[in-house]
Amino acid sequence: MRDFSRDHSALALNTASLGHNIEGRGAGWEPERVIDACAARGFGSIVFWRREIGLRAVEIGDRARAAGLAAAGLCRTPFLVGADALDRTAVLDEAKASIDMAAGLGAAVLTIVVGGVHPGTRGTVESLRILADRVADLVPYATERRVKLALEPLNPVYAGNRSCLTTVRDAVDICEMVDMPNLGLAVDVYHVWWDSDLDAQLQRAGKNRIFGYHLCDWLADTQDVLLDRGMMGDGVADLKAIRASVEGAGYAGPCEVEIFSANNWWKRDPGDVLDVMVERFRTLC
Ligand code: ZN
Repeated sequence: MRDFSRDHSALALNTASLGHNIEGRGAGWEPERVIDACAARGFGSIVFWRREIGLRAVEIGDRARAAGLAAAGLCRTPFLVGADALDRTAVLDEAKASIDMAAGLGAAVLTIVVGGVHPGTRGTVESLRILADRVADLVPYATERRVKLALEPLNPVYAGNRSCLTTVRDAVDICEMVDMPNLGLAVDVYHVWWDSDLDAQLQRAGKNRIFGYHLCDWLADTQDVLLDRGMMGDGVADLKAIRASVEGAGYAGPCEVEIFSANNWWKRDPGDVLDVMVERFRTLC
């Protein structure tokens, strides 16, 4: 396992940790200011959200690289299934636009949050089948633009309306079904910490399918499953064990801090939040 105690260049900021994924939240820093604050603290890379980028993908990507940061990723595609994804053509067109944005940014990975149970169906099996069909349509487009697509299974609490994909197992199943080298998965502590089969499923995924590792913590007494994520060390996830599994499967990429925290971390000064991340990453992750 990598030793981060003296070198945190693997640390990446997901800008959602500063509230930047939701209008009106967080300190509202411009991308340039976030880039400079991360570079000054030795972060190795950064992950943006589409709403921050607008038409400035190339400019912001170049700006990050000039500051010494890699653009590790972009969040995210629109939901591909579920109540907001009834029109297949419209959804795939928007997803392709998000692939174009990732390519412009020079982002290595575009995250797919898949959407909930598809209208007219129950359970997750049929929704996952529709999902696999739509993902298969996107993969060649992303391949041409050198963007990797990462399916992100979400915690089962979101299965109804945000992600019918809830386990690494189901994500690997879809990867195997579609079977293209630029389709893989992202592993997020918040979504997988409870899974006693995680190590075995990550081994099954292997190093060629794991495209991202997201850090935060699960607060034992969480107040809001969407917007009350914990800082690493404040919750009950076994962070070292999860990273051991991820790296044991062959992953050696960025570790991306992604904390949605409306009533705690988003209310603090972003510079202080970044300082805490560095300290926790070096000592607890
Ligand atoms: Zn994530």
